[in-house]
Amino acid sequence: MTSPGVVIVGAGQAAAVAARALREQGYRGRITMLGRERHKPYERPPLSKAVLVAAEEPSLDVLAPEAWALGDIDLLSNSDATALDLSKRQVRLAGGQVLPYDMCLVATGGEANTLASAPAGHPQVHYVRTLDDARRLRAALQGKPKIAILGGGFLGLEIANSALSAGAAVTVLERATCLLDRFLPPEASAWLASGLREAGARLLLGASLHGVRSLPGGRMRVATDTGDLEVDEVVVAIGLSPNDALARGAGLEIAAGGGILVDASCRTSNEHVFACGDCTSQQRPGQAAPTRLESWQNANEQARTAAAAMLGAPLPAPVVPWFWTDQGKHNIQVLGLPAPDLEYVRRGDPASGKVLWIGHRDAIPLHGVAINAGADLRAIRPLFEQRRTVQFDDFRDDATHLRAWAKQMQAGAVSTV
Ligand SMILES: Cc1cc2nc3c(=O)[nH]c(=O)nc-3n(C[C@H](O)[C@H](O)[C@H](O)COP(=O)(O)OP(=O)(O)OC[C@H]3O[C@@H](n4cnc5c(N)ncnc54)[C@H](O)[C@@H]3O)c2cc1C
Repeated sequence: MTSPGVVIVGAGQAAAVAARALREQGYRGRITMLGRERHKPYERPPLSKAVLVAAEEPSLDVLAPEAWALGDIDLLSNSDATALDLSKRQVRLAGGQVLPYDMCLVATGGEANTLASAPAGHPQVHYVRTLDDARRLRAALQGKPKIAILGGGFLGLEIANSALSAGAAVTVLERATCLLDRFLPPEASAWLASGLREAGARLLLGASLHGVRSLPGGRMRVATDTGDLEVDEVVVAIGLSPNDALARGAGLEIAAGGGILVDASCRTSNEHVFACGDCTSQQRPGQAAPTRLESWQNANEQARTAAAAMLGAPLPAPVVPWFWTDQGKHNIQVLGLPAPDLEYVRRGDPASGKVLWIGHRDAIPLHGVAINAGADLRAIRPLFEQRRTVQFDDFRDDATHLRAWAKQMQAGAVSTV
């Protein structure tokens, strides 16, 4: 009898990268991947960017077409896993089918948080998590509508920029008084807000939403504490919840803030079940509690780690979290994790459109933010990996060669301790 092999629940970024990594690392058993959506695994980052505005939809495949055949991966699309039986090592599908496994990898991603007064499925309401969501919003933007974006996080702001370039009239409603204040230094946040305003967006910061209501004629009323807006379309971008229901139902350990709790090897509380991507919460170096990272890089890194761990191979070295966002014509990259007590030093001037900040605690770089300066951030990445004390005087000076400075700091030639 053939052994059941690996069953991957979810068919997104992490699932596809894990399947490929299993084959690359020599796994010869069966790989079955099941996904709720009708599509093959696709890249989500372009959904709020190029998919909304490019003349032609870009290719979104996570795996090249030949990788499916070469990898001998069985993909069951339109297949919703409804239960995981840890003792029998089985996954149950919505249609009643039962799939046994030797090892199971849960890569179920997350679901957009919803607003009761703006339900998904309403013709003028948009949540952007799936390719079908993005295609629907793209079609709506072609009428150059008046839109309200509820939520000024990375996703809401990417959509705002895309909608502006599609000719829509955009209002962004954000509860906080500064954009992305938990993730960016205050100067970066102010720069982002003024850029959006210059591009024509109306920003309602520090605004509370009272509710959304349909009006006759297909318009929508968004009620806020600073007055009501009447718009054609409403986009809701108020964060993500991990898709951990399957794991909860099975009795796997869930982190206090949600997400399937995994160790450094992406193993869950059951030895035959691993998890990776947006559905997880993982203990990371320097963090007091397990953290959830909703990023493309995290999905890929955890997928490769889980594949290695399932095969008993050496784990890839842990990496510093990295994230990028494209805000209109600007590329923002973030390295490391923010914390409220960090102090920021800056190189460059926001007005020039190219800036790099280092957030540090006791002169140890922990959080890098680059606006249109991704190469500079890459040049100083080793300092974040090594977590060593540095001296910032030369960093601030535009004339300093950054890579040379980083090397000098790595070598410990200059140290404040
Ligand atoms: C619009 C958008 C823009 C983004 N932009 C960026 C960016 O600029 N930079 C960045 O770093 N990251 C970005 N991200 C985040 C990044 O795409 C995600 O972190 C990444 O896709 C997570 O991969 P995943 O495999 O964990 O989850 P997903 O890619 O969401 O895949 C999970 C899959 O599992 C399926 N599934 C769930 N439950 C079940 C079940 N019970 N049975 C079967 N299938 C199930 C889901 O339908 C889904 O297809 C963006 C995300 C979105 C949505």
